[in-house]
Amino acid sequence: MSYSAYDLLWLLLPLAAASGWLIARYDSRRQAARSFDLPSAYFKGLNFLLNEQPDKAIEIFIQVLEVNSETVETHLALGNLFRRRGEVERAIRIHQNLIARPTLDREQRTYALLELGQDYFKAGLFDRAENLFLELAEVRAHSEQALRLLLSIYQQEKEWEKAIQTSRKLARESGKPMDDVIAQYYCELAEQALAKKNFRSARDSLRQALSTDPSCVRASIVLGDVEAEEGRYREAIHAWRRVEEQDAHYFGEVAHRIADAYRRLNDDQGLYQFFSAALERHAAVSLTLTFADIIRQREGVKAAEKFVVESLRRQPNVHGLHRLLELNMEEAQGTAKTDLMLLKGIIEELRQQHQGYACEQCGFKGRSLHWLCPSCSRWNSIKPVLEQ
Ligand SMILES: [Zn+2]
Repeated sequence: MSYSAYDLLWLLLPLAAASGWLIARYDSRRQAARSFDLPSAYFKGLNFLLNEQPDKAIEIFIQVLEVNSETVETHLALGNLFRRRGEVERAIRIHQNLIARPTLDREQRTYALLELGQDYFKAGLFDRAENLFLELAEVRAHSEQALRLLLSIYQQEKEWEKAIQTSRKLARESGKPMDDVIAQYYCELAEQALAKKNFRSARDSLRQALSTDPSCVRASIVLGDVEAEEGRYREAIHAWRRVEEQDAHYFGEVAHRIADAYRRLNDDQGLYQFFSAALERHAAVSLTLTFADIIRQREGVKAAEKFVVESLRRQPNVHGLHRLLELNMEEAQGTAKTDLMLLKGIIEELRQQHQGYACEQCGFKGRSLHWLCPSCSRWNSIKPVLEQ
């Protein structure tokens, strides 16, 4: 573990100021009788840091702290530095030592507690972190930050009920609505219930999600899934169709589900009518591809090819081209088929670059749809690439 010059300078500046090091130098003769020389102890500590002996350094810093209460800031900074470097146990030692000091004023103490809570969180000691943040959430000056940190614990631990309560408090405290995030927490509860086949509880959570945030796409998708699980395909279609009004970007997520539900109902006419009408409303690529399959089943390969060519003229895109090649290959033979396969291979690579999902906030790209971005930890920021 090496400490960069920048890190050390960063530590040195406040301590030099706090300890009045420069003045002390000029007055060194008069100060010669001091029982404990603060700056020299600090430099001894820094020397240990430089020589990669952080535990000895901490020992020195803790000693100095007992002598001088002006250095609290520096200790907070040092603890923070250790935590950021992933040396959580050292950060905990520094912060615990600070808190144990009886001379710490109220503000310094709360600040040190907030730091210690973050150490515990990083160390995976969620219960301890939670207790600290719960205490700090009651302190007005720190409640917003404490609630945010509590929320990250509940999210990590998948304690969605607590996450909902905490978000409501946080929204009140900060004056910023969190309805879209709270709706996601209800969806998480619903998915947990659905996995246990507890359909009633899943429905309840989804109803809550939609009343909290009527534009919650995920709630409509999962509600449709619940209905379909119970064999209620008409109701499932009804739920999935809602996605179109909520955010048409996600229409592709339900297109194949809707098509499948119509097929299970043996309602070919309903299937055809729904998609031909939907295509009039949205020229979405995902809808075009689903409709091409429907035409292929109803009227055969030639009709499907004709439909794809027409839609490609209106809206050229690599996915349509790929589907056209697939349809062509079904009828081709001999060298024609080999040529088409070669072409399809080239298109395939292009197609890969234009599918999946991307986060609008941080640019994260993934193959499956995450409602919570794994990279920047935001909810509702990931959209399908296909329709962009
Ligand atoms: Zn992101």
